[in-house]
Amino acid sequence: MNGPVAIIGAGINGVAAAVWLARAGREVVLIDRKGPGEGTSYGNAGVLASASIVPVPIPGLLAKVPRMLLDPDGPLFLRPAHLPRVLPWLVRYLRYGREAEVRRTAEALALLIGDSVEQHRLLAAGTGAKRFIVPSDYTFVYKDRAAFAADALGWSLRREAGFRWEEIEGEAVRNYAPDLAPEFRFAVRLPDHGHIVDPGRYVQVLAAHAQVLGARVLQAEAQDFVFADGRLAAIETSAGRIPCAAAVISSGAWSGALMKRLGLAIPLESERGYHLEFHGANVSLPGPLMMGFGKFVATPMEGRLRVAGLVEFGGLDAGPSRAPLALLARAARRAFPSLAYDSVQDWMGHRPAPVDSLPLIGEVASRTGIYAAFGHHHVGLTGGAKTGRLVADLICGRRPNIDLSPFSPDRFSRSRRRED
Ligand SMILES: Cc1cc2nc3c(=O)[nH]c(=O)nc-3n(C[C@H](O)[C@H](O)[C@H](O)COP(=O)(O)OP(=O)(O)OC[C@H]3O[C@@H](n4cnc5c(N)ncnc54)[C@H](O)[C@@H]3O)c2cc1C
Repeated sequence: MNGPVAIIGAGINGVAAAVWLARAGREVVLIDRKGPGEGTSYGNAGVLASASIVPVPIPGLLAKVPRMLLDPDGPLFLRPAHLPRVLPWLVRYLRYGREAEVRRTAEALALLIGDSVEQHRLLAAGTGAKRFIVPSDYTFVYKDRAAFAADALGWSLRREAGFRWEEIEGEAVRNYAPDLAPEFRFAVRLPDHGHIVDPGRYVQVLAAHAQVLGARVLQAEAQDFVFADGRLAAIETSAGRIPCAAAVISSGAWSGALMKRLGLAIPLESERGYHLEFHGANVSLPGPLMMGFGKFVATPMEGRLRVAGLVEFGGLDAGPSRAPLALLARAARRAFPSLAYDSVQDWMGHRPAPVDSLPLIGEVASRTGIYAAFGHHHVGLTGGAKTGRLVADLICGRRPNIDLSPFSPDRFSRSRRRED
């Protein structure tokens, strides 16, 4: 299939696809209503979290949800006005927390994100973006061994997927991360991970690289698809009609509206998340720390410490809420009691969350010429480099060497049997 490829959404997924398509000599138009790297890819925790193969819903979560919602220090928030809309999705989402489903999800995710540092190195090779990739440990921090043991299923799934780690206990935690509060006495250090020290800039520099290779960046909103003889012919945008032979929907949490134009109802929610950035922070960390007590990550970034995480269901349109930001501030202070800084900035973003915790990757219905590359939940930065490459391969007629069936964009229209 020749002719231009329109990529709708210039986050990490769309930009990675643009880079690989441009490298393959394809004509690319990268469309975003904002600029590259200004969506969720801007504000995440920056972790190349290869071992984060365990979805949020796990056995036992359902029983904990009411308490988590009522606890002002719990990491889960819900805007009441959004409840009627989110409820059907939430019920299905929690049903995926059965052990068999969790295993299936973890196995599929391990194939997609297990080699993420290498995939990002390949993506950034020969570009100014490679300086943002820092190899590091990824460390999960707990109060004690009992708290670690409560996550037993997750750790056994990681072990089965081939991940190895070092357990650090007691005073040794202090030696490993001296700025951490003494109440945290157990840590799990996963080697061979990495982080991006400025995720927004990283995506922007990659987009600039795609432009050097000939890609066109267009600031516009994609609104609809135009077909001729059953094949894609153009994208209707706020800046006019863009002729194309293929398109990639990489619009993150906003992808549902475009899929709807194709007659597909995707059970996709926004899992809103927050960050606080402490500029000029005095805290020094050995790498990103996942703080089990508050479900947030503290990542050393260029000139600042970023703490990012939490989950809020509140939809795509409402602005940020105050309570999650206040909790993040309290949690950062609890984790790093001596934290001092020059200034602080906050941010809210939208994790694209399909109900089964797996992204949609591949051609939408057979032979439409439209490809999905969205829905990566908590691991979109991690999986973006490989997702972009896989989609570029498919468009160029190359057969990927991993089984993409768990990520099929058609899976929700085929059957809901697995949930019943
Ligand atoms: C607090 C938080 C922490 C996180 N931490 C991590 C982490 O440490 N590691 C990790 O791997 N992941 C993390 N994530 C998840 C990760 O950030 C996302 O999964 C990822 O950024 C999604 O990338 P994307 O390219 O799919 O979407 P986005 O980056 O959101 O890009 C989508 C783009 O599409 C554009 N768009 C949407 N609709 C249209 C339209 N109709 N026309 C034109 N443009 C459109 C938007 O403007 C946007 O720029 C975190 C997320 C949050 C919220």
